[in-house]
Amino acid sequence: MSNNMMDDLEKILFSETEVASRIKELGEAITQDYTGKEILMIGVLRGAVIFMADLARAIKLPVAIDFMAVSSYGSTTSSSGVVRILKDLDEDVENKHVLIVEDIIDSGLTLNYLMENLWSRKPASIKICTLLNKPDRRKVEVPIAYNGFTIPDYFVVGYGLDFAEKYRNFPFIGVLKPETYEG
Ligand code: 5GP
Ligand code: MG
Ligand code: MG
Repeated sequence: MSNNMMDDLEKILFSETEVASRIKELGEAITQDYTGKEILMIGVLRGAVIFMADLARAIKLPVAIDFMAVSSYGSTTSSSGVVRILKDLDEDVENKHVLIVEDIIDSGLTLNYLMENLWSRKPASIKICTLLNKPDRRKVEVPIAYNGFTIPDYFVVGYGLDFAEKYRNFPFIGVLKPETYEG
């Protein structure tokens, strides 16, 4: 790998191969659990896009996909606790089996808000699938049905996750050097 990709990173947490094999497992579990049901995957923009694309192809059932954009962070690394819907769904979720796809659950505030919001639209069910779970800083409990990896309180980038919109394209999950975000 080119050194340029490692310039701002302290280390790689999960390699491209590790992520791929974990997503394959998640896809198999979801395929088993939802056989005979109609899945509407809802990706949370923008962080979940890369994970969503790979996860959707690991699910061996016909699925519908839609996206929501919410904002709680701006370009800083700590939660403001404020959740705003920037883009709502295009699809109706009534009677659908909703699978929310997230990049990472940290405080839980974003997902807690989304779950409440989506339940009010009368879906048949809602489950959460997250690539990463960072439980150390949880402020509100959210039920996670499918979890890629549980990680300590690192600020991670890659595989859809950004810092100030950079690094989303990195095909692995890495830890940013503190000096990169401390300025
Ligand atoms: P929560 O509402 O659970 O605190 O935050 C969820 C959102 O915060 C995630 O979807 C993600 O956009 C952002 N976030 C939380 N932890 C990290 C992290 O370690 N790295 C990056 N890039 N984003 C994070
Ligand atoms: Mg997210
Ligand atoms: Mg972000």
